Amino acid sequence: HLSLNSPAGGWDTEVLKKYNQRGESAQSAAVRANKGYRRAYSLRKTPLYHNSLLWAPDNEPLCTVDPKKAYWYVNNDLGEVVQEEPLIVRLTFEPTGRPQKEGSDGYFYLNERQNMCVVCGKDRSYIRKNIIPHEYRKHFPEILKSHQNHDVVLLCTDCHQLSNQRDSFLRYKLADRHNAPIGNATDVKVVVNGGLKVIKSAGNALERNSYRMPASRIKELQDKLKEFFQTDDLTPELISKASVLDVVEVNSSYEPHGLRVYKYYEHIGIIHFEKLWRENFLETMNPEHMPDGWSVTHNHAKLKLKMARYP
Ligand SMILES: [Zn+2]
Repeated sequence: HLSLNSPAGGWDTEVLKKYNQRGESAQSAAVRANKGYRRAYSLRKTPLYHNSLLWAPDNEPLCTVDPKKAYWYVNNDLGEVVQEEPLIVRLTFEPTGRPQKEGSDGYFYLNERQNMCVVCGKDRSYIRKNIIPHEYRKHFPEILKSHQNHDVVLLCTDCHQLSNQRDSFLRYKLADRHNAPIGNATDVKVVVNGGLKVIKSAGNALERNSYRMPASRIKELQDKLKEFFQTDDLTPELISKASVLDVVEVNSSYEPHGLRVYKYYEHIGIIHFEKLWRENFLETMNPEHMPDGWSVTHNHAKLKLKMARYP
């Protein structure tokens, strides 16, 4: 029941329709949108994946690492350099986990990651893409966050932009399904206190318009303020105070979209949520260069054992 019904083909049409409302050609709209987009992200100049290898003492490959991390083992007498280019460091101690023990998922971390767009294969100016958006992921328990690497892929600027646009369909679907409006804090974080608003307008009316109000109306408003301030002596200072009351207050039931959606999946199982976004990425982008071993159910078998409370 969690599968995503992506609209067939209609993505680009929607986007272009929006741009065309500005009365420009689809092409110039796309160029303009892309310029702004490139400014909004800093492009990677250095490779994201270094593909240095760590070996166990018996020469079993363990994982790929940043060379800095590999040299850290060497400098601390915990590893020795087997080969310089590409770098291989053999640990001198028995590591706590070996990939084979984690089932096929462990092999994912052994495969070389390519420095190119996983969708179209372009190999320059790529940006990291979080397949599960940060607004949800930041609420995940540590055990899941530690597998983040699997759900970060590289995209070129065009594919990254397109992917973000397409992600928004799922975000709005989740917002709808879980009554979790998408908006910034000022949209939804505050509410107007109706009772205070009545007092404030009474104060304003008395201060500015009492000369043209009937006596009965004036008395009515004065009584409201007297009751509010719990006094029989309504001074001009009190009326003035009422007129500038702060009627906006923090909505204590406000929860950011990401947190509310996360809480739902916390109950039914975060693995369903991971799967949902991974499938969304495959369905919306049709990536042709996903890393070997990448899977929509990555680490789920292992997590089921470790986290018995998740289905
Ligand atoms: Zn691309």
